[in-house]
Amino acid sequence: MGLLSLGTPLPWDEAKKYADHVRYHGISQFLNIWDRLKDRTGDELMWGDEIEYMIVNLDAQSKNAKLSLCQTEILNRLRPTTDQLDTNTDECIAIPTFHPEYGRYMLESIPGSPYTGAITSLLSVESNMRYRRRLAREHLKDNEIPITFTSFPRLGAPGVFTEPYYDPSDAVSSQSLFVPEEITNPHVRFPTLTANIRRRRGSKVAINLPLYFDENTPRPFIDPTIPWDRNLYPEDPEAKNGAALPDHIYMDAMGFGMGCCCLQLTFQSCNVDEARRMYDALIPIGPIMLALTAASPLWRGYIADVDCRWNVIAGSVDDRTEEERGLKPLKENKFRIPKSRYDSVDLYISEHWMNRPEYNDNPLPFDPAIYDRLRKHELIDQDDTTSTDHFENIQSTNWQTLRFKPPPLNSSIGWRVEFRSMEVQMTDFENAAFAVFIVLLSRAIMSMNLNFYVPISKVDENMSRAQKRNAARDTKFFFRKDVFSPPSSRTTSVTSSGAASPIDGSHTLPHHKERKLRNCFPAFPPPEEGWPNECVQNEYEELTMDEIINGTGAQFPGLLGLVREYLTTLDMEEDEIRKIEAYLDLVKRRANGTLKTPATWIREFVRSHPAYKFDSVVSQEINYDLMVAVDEIERGIRRVPDLLPTDYTGGAHDQGTLTKKS
Ligand code: ADP
Ligand code: MG
Ligand code: MG
Ligand code: MG
Ligand code: MG
Ligand code: MG
Repeated sequence: MGLLSLGTPLPWDEAKKYADHVRYHGISQFLNIWDRLKDRTGDELMWGDEIEYMIVNLDAQSKNAKLSLCQTEILNRLRPTTDQLDTNTDECIAIPTFHPEYGRYMLESIPGSPYTGAITSLLSVESNMRYRRRLAREHLKDNEIPITFTSFPRLGAPGVFTEPYYDPSDAVSSQSLFVPEEITNPHVRFPTLTANIRRRRGSKVAINLPLYFDENTPRPFIDPTIPWDRNLYPEDPEAKNGAALPDHIYMDAMGFGMGCCCLQLTFQSCNVDEARRMYDALIPIGPIMLALTAASPLWRGYIADVDCRWNVIAGSVDDRTEEERGLKPLKENKFRIPKSRYDSVDLYISEHWMNRPEYNDNPLPFDPAIYDRLRKHELIDQDDTTSTDHFENIQSTNWQTLRFKPPPLNSSIGWRVEFRSMEVQMTDFENAAFAVFIVLLSRAIMSMNLNFYVPISKVDENMSRAQKRNAARDTKFFFRKDVFSPPSSRTTSVTSSGAASPIDGSHTLPHHKERKLRNCFPAFPPPEEGWPNECVQNEYEELTMDEIINGTGAQFPGLLGLVREYLTTLDMEEDEIRKIEAYLDLVKRRANGTLKTPATWIREFVRSHPAYKFDSVVSQEINYDLMVAVDEIERGIRRVPDLLPTDYTGGAHDQGTLTKKS
């Protein structure tokens, strides 16, 4: 959620004068972190999830589901409870933490302390998630529910969609035609960020999602719910002057993106080299997991022709000027900037020999003066050795599919990597399944020395494909042909000591059985004969989601095959295996299409609702029934065999417990 310092944030015109100051000291602070911590090593695997919730108020009488703007009250109510848990218990347990988020209807929860690499951690994630949800639920009103839903279907639609009601005309920060000021967290960081993005850009943000055309949707579609002629703020005419495209769902405020919920995972690495390897390896996985977790087909009261939140958030904080976006020749600004500050990763960063320069094939602007300072390692401002605020300021306003997190100064925390592309799932069973899958994949990557590199421009192309309607079923993605390549690594295995040793067979695993998921691995030496003299274009192909996850046969066992092979090296009890298999089975069935993505299920729910007029509109009543259904699904009351395994019971057998501190 970013840095929440005390102080008075400046409006953009003022802040701009300090931009170079912040950049200068941000770089110094980063160099200081680097100097002090680059040799830090030996950190154990630790990891944790972040889950974001929307609080929905169900008004049964008017059949309206509204966003409850109750964040402050709930956090205040939760605090004494979590404090009490801390002191009242004999056992030393980890108390979950709740954070505010951008939306005043949002909460974020994280486990009280990070998980370790022990198998028991993997087995307790779901229970911990359930416990956190239950805790949130217990502090809500009777008609309020905490849902893990990526985008609220009627945020910014006509009528009443918040509780209490506020009129969009008061939206001074965003000047939105659709959402009121009060959807934004009142901490001064958020309204200031919202307004400054608009001011820096020189106009409101403009997001246009392709509309899903149904039988009765008028063509061309000129949205009747846009107040085209409102004349309250100077930016109001933008919509009719070209910002709102026909045949699209137009959105004009930061809240449409930052008001979405997601599922994030953070892993601690042994040292910085391993963190860089992990970061790179997970870059191509980002779009794959986005498509597989797709859960957001409904926006501003309409059905969209996309399934994911990503481009909405990217657009919602896109503060680039027209010059920077390439719409005008450069005059005031220094650079054309290809992407929003919220987007997919720009560069692979590992120094491992697997990372060939050809993979960083996107042209990127950079400031030569800053680059020089970093290379020459210019320091030093005394203050910058004790504070990292300027660095964090830059870091926390750049949101990519992966985030590289340096250790905080003077803490026990090491180098970490955060995986950020996944959409939050409606049930904690699914959230746990994807968390466990990614944790295991991250272990497989390190222990089997897997190579997922494809040119980063192909990762970007995958990001755009991942958001298309039914991408998990209908789309192919660029993927590396041989994840054990170059060839020498196919006949080489990492043993328990981490040394490379040749063994027979195609791909191999450590023979060593271990209870803890391993963390530290030295890199392989490069192949003696050097890289095959092949061009990078021959290294990848286009695969379906089923092929990427479930494999193409002997050549490639699929990501799931790799995870399963890794699992065979662990010493696990039968009931442990069964539980993990249930998670992996969900991943498998999503990918082979025998279970739907949430996005597909949600779209079909709307289209089969008796009140739906096949006009792409998600009415208040449909939205209400959908929210009720989502809650019932989560609690195991409503059976949805096309979405979840038939033995899913909701919280019936597991109301959730806390993880013991390890
Ligand atoms: P942010 O919002 O900046 O990503 P949060 O504090 O919300 O950060 O979430 C951090 C996540 O990282 C939590 O899941 C937490 O359990 C986990 N975590 C905390 N310490 C470590 C650590 N040393 N290594 C790995 N993960 C950690
Ligand atoms: Mg968050
Ligand atoms: Mg967080
Ligand atoms: Mg954050
Ligand atoms: Mg966040
Ligand atoms: Mg995070």
